[in-house]
Amino acid sequence: MTSAVVTRFAPSPTGYLHIGGARTALFNWLYARGRGGKFLLRIEDTDRERSTPEATAAILKGLDWLGLDHDGEPISQHARADRHREVALELLDAGKAYKCFSTQEEIQAFRDAAKEEGRSTLFQSPWRDADPSTYPDAPYVVRLKTATEGTTVIEDEVQGTVKIRNDQLDDMILLRSDGSPVYMLAVVVDDYDMGVTHVIRGDDHLNNAARQMGIYTAMGWPLPVYAHIPLIHGPDGKKLSKRHGALGVEEYQAMGYPAAGMRNYLARLGWSHGDDEFFSDEQAKEWFDLKGIGKSPARLDFKKLENLCGQH
Ligand code: GLU
Repeated sequence: MTSAVVTRFAPSPTGYLHIGGARTALFNWLYARGRGGKFLLRIEDTDRERSTPEATAAILKGLDWLGLDHDGEPISQHARADRHREVALELLDAGKAYKCFSTQEEIQAFRDAAKEEGRSTLFQSPWRDADPSTYPDAPYVVRLKTATEGTTVIEDEVQGTVKIRNDQLDDMILLRSDGSPVYMLAVVVDDYDMGVTHVIRGDDHLNNAARQMGIYTAMGWPLPVYAHIPLIHGPDGKKLSKRHGALGVEEYQAMGYPAAGMRNYLARLGWSHGDDEFFSDEQAKEWFDLKGIGKSPARLDFKKLENLCGQH
């Protein structure tokens, strides 16, 4: 059923719409729109210190200029904290998570001793298998009981099969000692509740996928399809930074590039369709697929941008 596709763009509102974010949004939009699916927008504003309404406005403006329309209202992740907490408590009730009363000092002491003895410094909580009736009246965090054996296998549409040994993952915190849910939990709960079928995002989130899969599994929820896209690099092949110029979408808009040309250019940043360089939106929607996304980072190429924009 092609109509069941649901993708999302989930920016953290800490700055302007970055060219990398715009490309992620475009890939999600193309994938959904080409399959009669839905493209949702979630503002990941859980970091209260760094998230600003100005950044949210700038992101919405950038998406609007690019013509990447989303379905429904944008969802605020922060506003859903109660729901995130509810899921953590469900896991706690089911014995799939536990209260950990270890203090920072105790955790540090564990790590120091492990280092000295040449063991893994990954924290192993003494509370993992404790009987809840022995829980003290003290501050605690809620941790997920992560599998200690075997491997977590991410079947990624871009990266291929990625295996992570479970003994390299600690029992991640789901709720902090003040009861606030962690970001990783929020992402999984939101994606599940929003019915997201395809998670297409930057490969800086690949490691997170292994942890996020642990939450899906513990809840018995079906996994989404993952596609982690290599980040965009500068023309010199190095990680994008200010010195490469024009990183914000609004800068391209201000320079007078047409949105259609920008979409064409962004689509070609990391995705290919044979030798085709120039294409219309309709063609892009029809042709876009996850198989065409390259495994190595795409480079910014201003000449190509000029050229494609000149044709639109
Ligand atoms: N909020 C994250 C970011 O801006 C994206 C998380 C995700 O797509 O799962 O990098």
